[in-house]
Amino acid sequence: MPLLEVRRLDVGYLIPGEGLFARPRRLPIVHDVSFDLDPGRTLGIVGESGCGKSTLGRALLRLNPPSGGEVLWRGTDLATVPARALRRQRAEFQIIFQDPLAALDPRMTVLASVTRPLATFAPGLGARAREERGRAALEKVGLGSDFAGRYPHELSGGQAQRVGIARALVGDPKLVICDEPVSALDVSVQAQVVNLLMDLQDQLDLALVFISHNLAVVRQMAHEVMVMCLGRVVEKAPRGAFFAAPLHPYSQALMAAVPEPDPHRERARRGTAIAGEVPSVLTPPSGCVFASRCPRAEPRCHGERPALRPLQGGRSAACHFIEGTS
Ligand code: SF4
Repeated sequence: MPLLEVRRLDVGYLIPGEGLFARPRRLPIVHDVSFDLDPGRTLGIVGESGCGKSTLGRALLRLNPPSGGEVLWRGTDLATVPARALRRQRAEFQIIFQDPLAALDPRMTVLASVTRPLATFAPGLGARAREERGRAALEKVGLGSDFAGRYPHELSGGQAQRVGIARALVGDPKLVICDEPVSALDVSVQAQVVNLLMDLQDQLDLALVFISHNLAVVRQMAHEVMVMCLGRVVEKAPRGAFFAAPLHPYSQALMAAVPEPDPHRERARRGTAIAGEVPSVLTPPSGCVFASRCPRAEPRCHGERPALRPLQGGRSAACHFIEGTS
């Protein structure tokens, strides 16, 4: 049985209705997402800003309540777990945020921040045991005990993200949602944090959901890649197959928009960013979510939404014109 099973998940937000006395209405953000995740595996979720990947990540932890579908944790639907039990169970699934400094309380020392979740996850633990767990978590992320008494303003961005990872690890999680965990860091520090996450995954058999718009980092970390466009999964594939040849026109456009490290080559290839306006989630297209920007769009694409169909090699894609259904 997979550690995490996501079945046809929908997520939306309540927004005010139009008109003075109108009822709030639900604005759908994520539609019909399904996947499984095993221990020791990483699912990379990619897509442009606003595609729903962070909303999905939070819904997996029930920080955003789903509006449809199921999230099964070791076979149990999290919607059926009482709120108090769910708070304790959150020790098993944790999240790391994009902005490490904003995620830390400036008035708390590093050790206090790291051990704080234990008040919920292990309320019976004494002060000394809590401190030992906190120091052990700091060791795991490569921060020696001299960091324990520091405050967030005394940390670099990379150190602050390590503290965020230590705080996620202190409850001994099995799953960590990494929501753009390196995008606020310098490139050299990004590499250190990515290597740290991969080492921790090996040591602790962690399952990771790695949300990022940075395809180079996803290529390094993920075992499977899931591409989202306007709240829908448009392609899913094993990492090697995906990066060797993305099938969906949106995936191909994302790949083409990756900046070249060489500034000369980057200048020469200007204009490869995805052209056109991203449709509003308030007025989503009735056909393919990529139709208004797709270079291969045909009239059918604007009126008929393509289903996510299984293909050979454990892949799937949502496009009317991709052949090779398994
Ligand atoms: S269904 Fe049509 S618009 Fe959508 S990706 Fe395929 S070709 Fe492009």
